[in-house]
Order: sequence, then C-alpha cells, then structure tokens
Amino acid sequence: MYKTNLNFSNLQHRYLFGEIVNRTTRYAREHPQAKIIKMGIGDVTKPLPPFIIEAMHRAVEEYTRSETFHGYGPEVGYDFLRQAIVDDEYCKFGIGADEIFISDGINSDICNFGELFSNDNVVGITDPVYPAYFDSNIIKGNEIRLLPCKEENGFKEEIPTERIDIVYLCYPNNPTGVALTRDELARWVDYALRNKSLILFDGAYEAFIREDNVPHSIYEIEGAKRCAVEFRSFSKSAGFTGIRCAYTVVPKELGDLNAMWNRRQNSKYNGTSYISQRGAQASLTPEGKRQIRENIDYYLENAKVIRDTVERLGMKPTGGINSPYIWAKIPDGMDSWAFFDLCLEKANIVITPGSGFGVNGEGYVRFSAFGERDNAIEGMNRLSDMLCKK
Ligand SMILES: *Cc1c(COP(=O)(O)O)cnc(C)c1O
Repeated sequence: MYKTNLNFSNLQHRYLFGEIVNRTTRYAREHPQAKIIKMGIGDVTKPLPPFIIEAMHRAVEEYTRSETFHGYGPEVGYDFLRQAIVDDEYCKFGIGADEIFISDGINSDICNFGELFSNDNVVGITDPVYPAYFDSNIIKGNEIRLLPCKEENGFKEEIPTERIDIVYLCYPNNPTGVALTRDELARWVDYALRNKSLILFDGAYEAFIREDNVPHSIYEIEGAKRCAVEFRSFSKSAGFTGIRCAYTVVPKELGDLNAMWNRRQNSKYNGTSYISQRGAQASLTPEGKRQIRENIDYYLENAKVIRDTVERLGMKPTGGINSPYIWAKIPDGMDSWAFFDLCLEKANIVITPGSGFGVNGEGYVRFSAFGERDNAIEGMNRLSDMLCKK
C-alpha cells in the first residue's frame, strides 16, 4: 500500500494567490459592471522589449532546418548563456561559468536545493516572506526557526544569537520591498562564516535596485563565496515570468555543493528551452539592458505613485524604491483578509493580504506596482476615497 507524505497536512494556510483569485472571481461574477483594478499579484505586465523578441524569433527560425535544429540542450544550460552571465557580472567576483546553473525558474531551484541537505539542519526563514521557502521546508519536514521582520526594525530580521544552519534571505524583499545595505548583508555573511551556516540568497528583484548602498549580488560582500548560494531570475528583470529562464550560482568554494547540484540537475532536470536562453542572453547585452531598464523604470514610477498615496494616508509604507512592492500598515487594526474584502467591495481594487506571507504579515497589505500607470493612479484615488470617507 502506498503511503503519502504526511508533512503535506502541515501546510496550514490556503494557497494565497488561489484564494485571491477565488474571491475576486466570485465578486466579479456577482458585480459584472465593476471595473476591478488588480494591484495584488506579483507578475509583470509589460510586453517584452523588441530586442529580446528578435533574438527569440531568430532562435525559432533555427528550428526550421535540420542543420540548425536543437534537441535537448545541456541540463545546466548552454555555455553561451552561462558565459554571458559571468561576463556581465560574476567575473568581478572570480566566479566562472561552471558555477552558474541555468534553469526554468528559481522558484523550483530554491525549493529543490533543499534536497542537498539532511533533515537535521535548523532552517531560518524571515517572516513575512515569499511562501515557497516555508512550504518546501514544511514538505521536507525540517525544523524551521522564524526570523520575524517587524515594523520597529524596519522589517529587517535580527541576526540570530542561536544556531541556524541554513538561512533564506530575499532582498530586495517580497513582500516588504525592503533592501539590505552592504553593511547589513555583511553582518549575515559574518554570521554564516562564524557558524559554518549557508545563506540561500534570493535576488529575484535585483534589477529594481536603485540605491548605491544596496548590493546587487551577495558576492559583493567579502567571504560570501564561502557561505552563500545566489538565485537570480529573468522573470522580474526581463519580464520572463511566462518565458521561463533563471540561474543559480553555486561557488566551488562551497565545497561539495557545486558538484552535488550539478549531479542533481543532471539526474532530475532536462534543461531550459533554447529559445528562452537566447532571449535571456539578449537581455544581458547593452541594448537589451537599456530596453529592460525602461520597463523597470516604468514600474518604479507606478511604485512611487502608490508609495506617495499610501504615505499620505498614514499607512507607513516600506519598499517601492528598490522594489516593485509597497508594504503598508492597515488602518484601524483591521485584519489582512478583512481589508482585502473591503478594498474589493468598496474600491474594486485587488490587493495582497499581508497574512498570506506569514504570521508577522497580519495587519499589513502588499501593493504591487506591476501594471499600467492609469490603473495605479485610479487605484490609489479609489483607496484614498475609501479611507477618507470612512
Ligand atoms: C517571483 C519570485 C520568484 C520566482 O521566480 P521564477 O524564476 O519565475 O521561478 C522567486 N523569488 C521571489 C522572491 C519572487 O518574488
């Protein structure tokens, strides 16, 4: 008789985005005239830059002739992309192409990376945070230590005093939009080196960094190659959430982990689409980067509209500067889902309830700057009206 993994029953909360969709769809069905503005889901909305589209068109053409056809590619990614990533950034840190592993997304990489470890590690996870870290460790049955990120500390966790073997850090953060400065990240690297811990650094929002004192890569910190794995994605930078391409950096100075991840990907992964990888390569060229930056600047201007309004309404925002997310305190002590329903029903805007990102997210809300400028402005006008009328 087969036996299921009982850890699944420990996944308490409903899947966040599914519940948002359910409530929104139900409301839309009952109120077909409502013009709903979505400021909730963290997904890009702008068309891909033409330079990237052209590169992918050329890649598609290669499939029309047997001489240029591509079957399975290398499990760890094509050399042209691994090398482009190194040339663009990682060569500065002495990191080479065989330390870059291409994949179809870091959500799966971050979750799968846990396979390299035994089950007796103490795992540290900041809270609130992107739910995948928590869920993948629950499924594995690991001991989790939550590192609360609270208003009084600017939503930055304290460096723990007790032992944590593996810690997940995401900066600029989803959902709080907060970024760590170089000094703050250096304190984590110091902790990890002293305790022989491993930092799993999620840099999904690196392309949104605009402040000089915020490091783009954890390897800008001395010693990080001996204690950190970095996850980067073309999803939020080049707009590849639907195209799919990302990479994980596993320095050889981490010892066995580089060879283990290589082995794991060889066994369990069959490679990322050639077309996606050609698109990703184009996004790293000067012209590709310029066009991507235009899109990100557009989102960051939306973020400013949202942040300014939320500030004016006294909701104490964080984020929106090095991040597409604005995190804000819900007025009058209302809980996150009650505020979600209120926004949906009274203002026809969809937001993300903070409690969906962890217990410490209760009482907060995440606004997303992905979307059209007009919608950001209109959504904020409606939010102002709703809160001022009350
Ligand atoms: C969107 C997001 C990801 C997912 O990236 P993919 O490469 O599309 O799988 C990972 N981490 C965070 C924090 C994200 O917000």
